[in-house]
Amino acid sequence: MIRLTDVTKTYPGGVAALAGVSLEVEYGELLAIVGPSGSGKSTMLHLIGTLDRPTTGSVLIESHDTAALSDAELSALRARRIGFVFQQFHLAPGTSALSNVADGLLYTGLRPAERRRRAAAALDRVGLGHRMEHHPHQLSGGERQRVAVARAVAGDPALLLADEPTGALDSASGAGVMALLRELHATGTTVVIITHDREIAASLPRQVRMHDGQVMH
Ligand code: ADP
Ligand code: MG
Repeated sequence: MIRLTDVTKTYPGGVAALAGVSLEVEYGELLAIVGPSGSGKSTMLHLIGTLDRPTTGSVLIESHDTAALSDAELSALRARRIGFVFQQFHLAPGTSALSNVADGLLYTGLRPAERRRRAAAALDRVGLGHRMEHHPHQLSGGERQRVAVARAVAGDPALLLADEPTGALDSASGAGVMALLRELHATGTTVVIITHDREIAASLPRQVRMHDGQVMH
């Protein structure tokens, strides 16, 4: 599903965030990416998620070379195949949980009623069927992150990328979000999770350890 070969990423200003990374992830894996702050974890997840392109080296997602795709093709690949969850939820304020999830399906070309139907099903799936009309500020942190998970999975992605999904949550809410991610994995989704939580990392089948822009282990 994912093949990174000798990937480097240098940001404007000269920061070498990735200094030659090679990594393969098979369909159906569940893995943790760990390492100190600044070691390149988020940069790598962005490249895997086709949100950015490498400076050198190649990133293949389902055999598509992201350097060879146009911006429109890249957006289409991302929209159809990849879901994202971030530490700070990234929900739109001032609109309902249902709208937040349904708006994530805008790209699909589905009619509004069908988008809302699927969004409602995704919210049901994360246990928030009773909170659909709540706005983000009316929800707890754990509930907000479950809305974000619903939005990420409403389009049925093959690959779910999560950047510190439990980083802003208390341990009970974090455990709830982790349980959802495990459930997704159990139904066939490939799941990649950046985490600082040693216990979470140790509980996953594979850990990729980064340091100074390289995969150490
Ligand atoms: P991590 O997620 O492991 O904390 P990051 O991938 O966010 O690490 O960052 C790796 C390095 O790249 C850091 O030194 C960081 O300051 C730098 N960096 C990250 N994003 C940018 C950016 N948009 N522009 C410039 N430097 C960046
Ligand atoms: Mg990061």
